[in-house]
Amino acid sequence: LKLVQDPAFKGKRVSTTNGKELQHTKCIKCGQCTLVCPTKALREKDAVDDVRAVLQNPGNKIITCEVAPAIRVNLADALGMPAGTVITGKLVTALKKLGFTHVFDTNWGADMTIVEEASELVSRIKNNETLPMFTSCCPAWINYVEESAPKLIPHLSTVKSPMGMLAATLRNDFAKLQKVKPQDIYHVAIMPCTAKKDEIERKQLYTKDGVKETDKVVTTRELAQWIKDAKINLKSLPDTPFDSVYGESTGAGTIFCNSGGVMEAAIRSAYKFYTGHEMKDVNVPAVRGVQDGIKYAVVDFDGLPIHFAVAQGIANAMNLIKKIENKDPAVKDLKFIEVMACPGGCVCGGGSTRAKTKKAMQKRVDAVYELDREMPERVSHKNHELNECYDRTYEGHYFSHSAHHDLHTHHKPQVY
Ligand code: SF4
Repeated sequence: LKLVQDPAFKGKRVSTTNGKELQHTKCIKCGQCTLVCPTKALREKDAVDDVRAVLQNPGNKIITCEVAPAIRVNLADALGMPAGTVITGKLVTALKKLGFTHVFDTNWGADMTIVEEASELVSRIKNNETLPMFTSCCPAWINYVEESAPKLIPHLSTVKSPMGMLAATLRNDFAKLQKVKPQDIYHVAIMPCTAKKDEIERKQLYTKDGVKETDKVVTTRELAQWIKDAKINLKSLPDTPFDSVYGESTGAGTIFCNSGGVMEAAIRSAYKFYTGHEMKDVNVPAVRGVQDGIKYAVVDFDGLPIHFAVAQGIANAMNLIKKIENKDPAVKDLKFIEVMACPGGCVCGGGSTRAKTKKAMQKRVDAVYELDREMPERVSHKNHELNECYDRTYEGHYFSHSAHHDLHTHHKPQVY
């Protein structure tokens, strides 16, 4: 994020306290301010020029990109289509026109996050380890914990975000498949999120040989402008599928971008991993919806009631943390908590165009659940391309030693 000085405000300077760069403040980089700032003084740092330069002059690099779950439903408004229009196949075609040779699906990475996170949850429950566990896929939430609530770090899941999962796998599995070095891949993530620009700079997200796993993040807003500048008429484009071997995904990976979606996806796989059999009905309506406040659910894991909670927005997360610290009986049995910094989740992320009304926001959310309903597989552990990747590279099973090495991370206090 950057602060832009507007010459119209003569003699005035927009600044953080003591003039520190946003990077060195307790700003969590969620970008929600960029959706409401009336003077556009707060904006993301645009990455498109850098990416375009590499696309025009790739040298020996293979140029890949991945597309976050939210983009397929929140790019449409920015390009003049009705809210909630799903444009997945056209988007892949547009990205190929812009020059990306491989276009992968972050939903694949979301399925990977879920099989690892559900395995971690079941392991913590069975081994009586630190609970409740909190989700770790929202980098703005991670910034909040590291900067303002470091006592919670042992409660954070150690799994990387879906973007982090796919990027790490590209530097290892994909590099081997392509017979290239990890540094010969230039990888761009298309995200609805400004905090993702911050996430990719984390030293923990470099390979052991010092290669940055994700080179650049382009937000929904930047991509919309890029498509307009390139005079691509998205509406008229044919559909193109995502590229294998990271193109398949399930309904669980799809719902990741809605508030409650990470939780619902994790419940579907954790149930199977704990009980040994599939849920009869994989829908968990209690964790759905864009209403303010905290959502709670209890799911019976073959006689063991497992309690879950979902907080959207940091204010709700802070309320929930306070209840836990005060040993409020209403939250004492919680085992797993999802936090997303943006109200509604990533479908309304700080790098997207603002949903103009609550109804428009709801249309994006509904479109995602509709996609889930239509998917042939709705649980992450049934993603065939994902399981083949585990067979090739991660010892053939989730939560393996090599999966821990590549797909998990660590968090540490940040002092500003
Ligand atoms: Fe980014 Fe999604 Fe978190 Fe918002 S909720 S900060 S879009 S990851």
